[in-house]
Amino acid sequence: IFLTLSLSLLLPISSSSPRHFCHHSATLHFDDVKVPIENVLGEVGGGFKVAMNILNNGRFGMACALSGTMKQAIQIATEHATQRIQFGDKISKYGLIKEKLARMSSILYATEAMGYLVAGNMDKGLQEFQIEAAISKVFASEAATQVVDEAIQITGGMGFMSDSPLERMYRDLRIFRIFEGANEILRLFIALNGLQGAGENLKGLQKAMKNPLANVNLLMGEGSKRLVRMISTPSPTEGSFTQVAEPLRGSAKILEQHIGEFGDVVEKVLMRHGKKVMNEQLALKYIADAAIDIYASSACVSRASASNTPEEYALAESFVESASKRIKSNLKEARSSNKRTKQLIDTIVEHSYSGVESGSAPAYNITHPTLIGRK
Ligand SMILES: Cc1cc2nc3c(=O)[nH]c(=O)nc-3n(C[C@H](O)[C@H](O)[C@H](O)COP(=O)(O)OP(=O)(O)OC[C@H]3O[C@@H](n4cnc5c(N)ncnc54)[C@H](O)[C@@H]3O)c2cc1C
Repeated sequence: IFLTLSLSLLLPISSSSPRHFCHHSATLHFDDVKVPIENVLGEVGGGFKVAMNILNNGRFGMACALSGTMKQAIQIATEHATQRIQFGDKISKYGLIKEKLARMSSILYATEAMGYLVAGNMDKGLQEFQIEAAISKVFASEAATQVVDEAIQITGGMGFMSDSPLERMYRDLRIFRIFEGANEILRLFIALNGLQGAGENLKGLQKAMKNPLANVNLLMGEGSKRLVRMISTPSPTEGSFTQVAEPLRGSAKILEQHIGEFGDVVEKVLMRHGKKVMNEQLALKYIADAAIDIYASSACVSRASASNTPEEYALAESFVESASKRIKSNLKEARSSNKRTKQLIDTIVEHSYSGVESGSAPAYNITHPTLIGRK
């Protein structure tokens, strides 16, 4: 890490001019830059650690910042829906619009809950929160994209216009899935970090299999212990564990089952691939997605239990209900070898790659039968 002024700023500013985005970007070239010794910050070679710490904070902060974006989008969409009359009634009365607004709020609730949970743990002095920060970043960046996208849908054609704040939010949001660690890389990071702990404990697993909760602790090391603790609804503000509120017992039970299944699947994947699991990106993605949804659901149950309001119970239960479907599907995919899926993917991309790499054909080189032979 160093400070320097001797680098070239290549102008003109790239496509992201302030008129189009809320941030200002340009291409920087570091060309044979000399760094005076007094400008070196910390130790030479120690920059990676500093960068990782900064990224941890940035990733965790994203859940908080994007919660604000989602709040604003939901506000705009709700104001529009409660005023706009179509087919003789306010569109807010129609089932499809209600479902969208409810889903948007439950996604926001989960993002906020994760932000508070990670922040609470940091306030308590927890040093190891990189998995939670990565989970928050992936979840929040995709949640906000979904929420703003649906807000635009609710505001109809007006939402598409550049006068609408939603239009700019939508474009600005795109970078969040790329910077601070691209979401693909973070999914691998989340899964591999979890598996690392599991691999170390593999020998003890046979015994632990008799007790799924103990098993998942072993499988994911400290990361999963925290997941299991969250099921018991820790209160990050009070630093103590509270009971799951009665209306959320069903949701907590579902989550507990998923954590048990999660441990089982992780073990199967490790047994199947061993050290080569690093190359099994599809399986790792399914594992990461299940972990993300389990963490988000746990944060919701924890938060709502502490609040004791019917509205928050509904937000939490609704989130867990939809997350549970995704968790089941992701664990099923992770458990399977995905042989056929991989064959199909390879067939499709190999065709594209060979055409593009040799310059002989476009990436999508498929012609509809009705056009074959036509000039
Ligand atoms: C507006 C803006 C602000 C930024 N701010 C900062 C900043 O403040 N500090 C900073 O350090 N950086 C910053 N960046 C850089 C940003 O973090 C990187 O662009 C980002 O990490 C992705 O790296 P890349 O662009 O090299 O993409 P690549 O690494 O080339 O990735 C391209 C695609 O391939 C995927 N991919 C790459 N490797 C693999 C793999 N092994 N397996 C599967 N998929 C893979 C990626 O997920 C991505 O989808 C900023 C970028 C932008 C656009």
